[in-house]
Amino acid sequence: MIQVASPAAVRSIMRRHNISCRKSLGQNFLVDLNIIKKILDSAALTSDDLVLEIGPGLGALTAQAAQNAGRVLAVEVDHGLLPVLAETLEGAGNVEVIEGDALKTDFDRLAAEKSGGLFGSGGRKYKLIANLPYYITSPLLMHLLTNRFNFSTAIVMVQLEVAERLAAGPGTKQYGALSVAVQYFTESKILFKVPRTVFFPAPEVDSAVVRLSPRNLPAVFVRDEKAFFKLVRAAFGQRRKTLLNALDGSGLGPDKANWLKILQRCGIDGSRRGETLTLAEFALLTGAYLDFCAG
Ligand code: SAM
Repeated sequence: MIQVASPAAVRSIMRRHNISCRKSLGQNFLVDLNIIKKILDSAALTSDDLVLEIGPGLGALTAQAAQNAGRVLAVEVDHGLLPVLAETLEGAGNVEVIEGDALKTDFDRLAAEKSGGLFGSGGRKYKLIANLPYYITSPLLMHLLTNRFNFSTAIVMVQLEVAERLAAGPGTKQYGALSVAVQYFTESKILFKVPRTVFFPAPEVDSAVVRLSPRNLPAVFVRDEKAFFKLVRAAFGQRRKTLLNALDGSGLGPDKANWLKILQRCGIDGSRRGETLTLAEFALLTGAYLDFCAG
């Protein structure tokens, strides 16, 4: 394996392979071994673990993960990085790089396929690690959560501002549909902040490492998750409007008078803003909305 965690090593690899960092793919590579070790310590890897990595890049996290985990599967979308990874991970017999788009990857199926059914759907839980490409952070988290993939923990690096959104509570500027989804499906924790200086090239923002631990049962009970998330999106869709007006403008069915009745039934004041609702209130609203739809 080749040590890639320094700006000089990244520059030299890129020169040799005649490639450059693709900003459009969120390629900001980690060049600080201490941070890499800190991220992996948070995953508490053992030789029993199967690790799925999203976006291995040049293999900085991958190579270190391979030293502690039983096996590492790394999904990379950039075809041009495959020869680089073959070189930097040479000799790491427990690593497999898979060319693919993480947004379209069924991680359970991949884990099951590559482990002969030991991990993944119906099998043991695997661990996810990623220094996430920032341009797809929200859709990727939604992909991981709403598909209820069978991972025990995800250690992900995201922009600090996104990390704060994941943990944000009702009534704050950062609280949004992503906060609700993350809190509904997981217990999340910001583990530590990461300065922009540990990346090459350095991004314009600082980052944070977050741990997501899927809950056995969602944080609140809802009869119909699709309806729940539709209402969440509607409530946050037009943040300057009152909840009543946001729901009325959502195209979800009921007219304004009926939205008022629905809100009254669950004791929620329609003059509030959507972003002040707790998860429990969104669940109540979902119940009343479904009752209305059922006639
Ligand atoms: N893990 C490496 C590190 O920490 O140095 C690279 C992290 S870099 C922020 C993000 C990586 O994700 C890049 O290698 C990029 O090519 C890859 N990537 C971007 N979009 C992707 C996608 N849709 N699916 C899989 N990988 C993706």
